[in-house]
Amino acid sequence: MTYTTRFAPSPTGYLHPGHAFSALTAFKAARSHDGAFILRIEDIDHTRCRPEYEQAIYDDLRWMGLDWPEPVLRQSEHMADYQVALERLKSMGLVYPCFKTRKELMLEALSAPQDTPVLPPGDAPLDREPAWRLALTEARDYLGSRWEGLGFEEQGRGPNGEHGWQVADPSINGDVVLARKDVGIAYHLAVVVDDARQGITHIHRGHDLFEATHTQVLLQALLGLPTPQYHHHALLLDDTGQRLAKRKGSKSLRDLRDEGINLADIKALMANYAKA
Ligand code: GLU
Repeated sequence: MTYTTRFAPSPTGYLHPGHAFSALTAFKAARSHDGAFILRIEDIDHTRCRPEYEQAIYDDLRWMGLDWPEPVLRQSEHMADYQVALERLKSMGLVYPCFKTRKELMLEALSAPQDTPVLPPGDAPLDREPAWRLALTEARDYLGSRWEGLGFEEQGRGPNGEHGWQVADPSINGDVVLARKDVGIAYHLAVVVDDARQGITHIHRGHDLFEATHTQVLLQALLGLPTPQYHHHALLLDDTGQRLAKRKGSKSLRDLRDEGINLADIKALMANYAKA
């Protein structure tokens, strides 16, 4: 099987050096294994994604010297496929409707930060359309003894240094939302469908998504999809130890380019970081 990696940004803002690090890591891993590097645009959330951010992703990655096969998969063009997966889980009795408010759902979205809905003023209840949640108890019954064997090979490091075989514990994320009322589908479901359909064998991403992996391997098992190998990496921090992506006013790749930083500077920053 061809070693296949992907970089799967959500166009909800400009890329920052942390994204560049992830993209470059995946790209280099693919190159060194004579494999493929795929770019996927995770734009299911029409409330937060913007065309100018998507264009900036292409521009920034090209500036970094990366290339990828075209056409790029844009999740917004494949909503029907995620719906098929959701219907399948519904027919298996493994999801249940949830009528919580957006605010309540937002507080629970921490395992999938890219799924944080934009709140309307106040805390308006969702209307009659429900969100759909994964039913962990039923999923466990469905898998029977296979539940105990759920896990993934961590070839990088989790936030606490996790490495090697990880027994999955989907309960850390609870009954996650798989279909949001406002945007139809939620991150966990779309990402497993696409990782499988694009033949992704190795996932390189920040360790902020390490915990999400516990839920994603369960979904893979339920939907009969393969589990790739995972390489989570540490997040780029500034000199005060704050995460670059989260710090208010932290500079995007675009800002740094405008200030005249060149690719060699970016690569040097990352090489230093990778050694640390
Ligand atoms: N779209 C996600 C993000 O931008 C990344 C998904 C993933 O790598 O699994 O944070």
